[in-house]
Amino acid sequence: MEIIDSHVHLSKFGHEGKSFAEVRDALLQDMKSSGVAHAVIFPDSEPTGVVAGLDECLELAEGNPALSVAGTVFVPAVGPDDLVKLRSLAATGKIVGLKLYPGFEVFYPIEERCHPLYEMCVEHSVPVVFHSGESLQLTERERLNHPYEIAKVAKRFPELKIVIAHFSQPHIFACRDVVLANPNVHVDISGLAHPEVIEACGLGQIRRVLRQVASCRPDKVTFGTDWPLCDVKLHIDLVISLPIPAADKQSIIGGNARRLFRLK
Ligand SMILES: [Zn+2]
Repeated sequence: MEIIDSHVHLSKFGHEGKSFAEVRDALLQDMKSSGVAHAVIFPDSEPTGVVAGLDECLELAEGNPALSVAGTVFVPAVGPDDLVKLRSLAATGKIVGLKLYPGFEVFYPIEERCHPLYEMCVEHSVPVVFHSGESLQLTERERLNHPYEIAKVAKRFPELKIVIAHFSQPHIFACRDVVLANPNVHVDISGLAHPEVIEACGLGQIRRVLRQVASCRPDKVTFGTDWPLCDVKLHIDLVISLPIPAADKQSIIGGNARRLFRLK
């Protein structure tokens, strides 16, 4: 079964003291041992030295057919130059999506300043991935990336492919409703199998919403882990444990991300 991890970071979390090149090597090593064929790297929009930024990720993934990179931008300071850069990266296939971080950054996805970014995504047929749910343990920030806020973008830009990251945990029920109600909204399961998330949301509830979405729209659920924060095997086991057809499990673990991000 092909495994594609559509949500990883080159992060020094757990890799303290290493360079980003060494973190990339650790990622490739972990991919090999868990059978992950391809990973999509999400850069940090505000590089702090802990998680690699866009330019570093592009450089470290260059020439490696097992790695793809999504673009990103610090929305509170987004300007015309960012758009020129992202458009050129998308046009040349150097980025396979756009990751935005409402909640970590203070903005609502529906704000006007984001619209040119969405138009760029539509133009180049790449999805926008929204960080959603838990944000730096600041619960009041979660209003910014709540699934209902993301639904506003889905309705305003029906051609835009949207991914809600982390199943918006802890807002998993609202996330389910938005994914099922909006044809252009997909969801990734990164972080859902993390023991702390399971404790907060309850394994029964997580399996229930996942099964509900996966039974109705198995094509809209993508596999991701938030590596290095979360374990690959726990996430695979979560998908495998669902009472859905084997072919749908296969699509969730591999095919959906390949199609959505148009991976080669
Ligand atoms: Zn992440």
